[in-house]
Amino acid sequence: MLWVSKDESNKMPAGTHRYPFEFDIPANCPPSLNTLGAKNKYKIEVEIDRPWKLNIKKEEQFLVSNKIEIPVGKQPKKSIRFAKLFKSGRIFNEGPVSLQVFLPSLYCMPGETIDVKVHLKNDSADTINYICMDFGKECHCHLRHQHHTCDNYAWNKCPLNSSDRTYGYKYIGKKTRLEINLGPYSEKIYTIPFTIPKSLTTPSFSTGLITFGYFLQVGFKVKGSMMADTMYFTIIVGELKKIEEKSESAEQEEAPPSYKSLEL
Ligand SMILES: [Zn+2]
Repeated sequence: MLWVSKDESNKMPAGTHRYPFEFDIPANCPPSLNTLGAKNKYKIEVEIDRPWKLNIKKEEQFLVSNKIEIPVGKQPKKSIRFAKLFKSGRIFNEGPVSLQVFLPSLYCMPGETIDVKVHLKNDSADTINYICMDFGKECHCHLRHQHHTCDNYAWNKCPLNSSDRTYGYKYIGKKTRLEINLGPYSEKIYTIPFTIPKSLTTPSFSTGLITFGYFLQVGFKVKGSMMADTMYFTIIVGELKKIEEKSESAEQEEAPPSYKSLEL
């Protein structure tokens, strides 16, 4: 209560009144979100109780954000690698193409430009025409609360049935494309600067209901094939909260198959 009449006798005088107030938002509140079928809203509601008249109510939404907490004992790695081996050729197998992507860190800030190193080893009989890169957001929701969060978007890691969960994703910004001409049986490392969109307001987070975050999709196109071969991986976007000193091994295993790759 910000103001109460004494003995129900005095009145709030006419005019403008200000009643400063404050309350603590719990530190573990998930950030505001309204996208891909998931909503997480915060609002403040003010009500003026007027005797013998209708109460006046006003509500206002506000945004909540929070920092990304790195698990105790871990720290952002100096470099992270994602790798996948592709078979080229539409009808006949023209040989494998190895794609490796190196990022300076798994953690990025909105607006930050990172150097994405793409190592292509073309052991196929075809030329590679271009490298493409997409960025997007993705959201995995549970229709009932779980005690443990789903820390990634792999369909086979979720404890719930397919009818009790949802997944959605959306590309953000323009596709980045680098024209190349990598001949058969050759390899090269390409450095492609990529800027994480500055406009992102919701950091990566996960609760028992929602797992929200961002992904990069990197691929290449072999001459003559209909479409690019791509690899998708999750990156964590937001301000870091805590950095511990202990280190972990330098590589991350390739992510399990995504919902997208299964076209669910
Ligand atoms: Zn899940």
